[in-house]
Amino acid sequence: MNILKSLTEMLLPRYCKVCGRRLTIGEEHLCITCLLSMPLFKNYKGGMNRPEELLISSHTLVRAESMLVYDKESNYRKILYHLKYYGHPDVATYLSAIAASRLKNDGFFDGVDLIIPVPLSRKKFRKRGYNQCSYIAKGINKITGIEIVENAVVRTVANTQQAGKGKYQRWGNADGIFMVAKPEMLENRHLLVVDDVMTTGSTLSSILEIIEKTVPSVKLSVFTLALAQ
Ligand SMILES: [Zn+2]
Repeated sequence: MNILKSLTEMLLPRYCKVCGRRLTIGEEHLCITCLLSMPLFKNYKGGMNRPEELLISSHTLVRAESMLVYDKESNYRKILYHLKYYGHPDVATYLSAIAASRLKNDGFFDGVDLIIPVPLSRKKFRKRGYNQCSYIAKGINKITGIEIVENAVVRTVANTQQAGKGKYQRWGNADGIFMVAKPEMLENRHLLVVDDVMTTGSTLSSILEIIEKTVPSVKLSVFTLALAQ
C-alpha cells in the first residue's frame, strides 16, 4: 500500500493549498506547518466581532462559531478560493471535520437535529456544479452523524414577485433571497446553518430571519468555515 501511495505521490504530486509546498504522504490538503499555524478564531486576539455579535438580529440563535480568521493579507484566504473557484471543495470537508472534532468536545452540537447548508441560487449552482457549503456540512456530518438537509431552504432570485404564498411560504426580508420550501421538516428542530465565510453577517442574518419567521418553533445555531476581517 505504501509503495502504491509513493508511486501515486510521484506521478500525481499534491500541493499545500495555503503555501504551495509539495505535500508528503500523510498530509492532506494542507502541509503540517500550515495546518498547525492556522489562524483559528478561538486564538485570535484582534478587535473583531464574534460570530454571535454579527448575528444579533436573530432572536432564536443558540450559538455561533467560525473555524479560521479569513484575512485578505493571509495565504489562508486561498483555502476559500480552492473551495469556491478552483473546484476543490473537499478541502472544506477535511477542515470542517477537524473543527467539528474540537467543537464536539465543547458541546457545540448538543441538541442540534439537522444541518442546513446555506443554499446557492439555481443559476450559481449550475455554474459552479456544487454548493461549497454542502462540503462543509459533510465534514460536520462525518464527526457528529447529524443529518444534512439540502432543500428545505432555497435561495430565490432577488426581487422575485410574491406568488403562491402558503401558510409558511413567505418571502424573506427586503432582499427576498431565501425561502423555506419545506417548513414541515424544520418544525421544533434545532438547525445548524452552515456557511463558508461570514463577513458582515448579512447573508446569514437573512437566512436566519426567514427561517425564524416561517417556522417560529425552530432553534438556530451557525457554523462558518471562516470569518472575514
Ligand atoms: Zn503549507
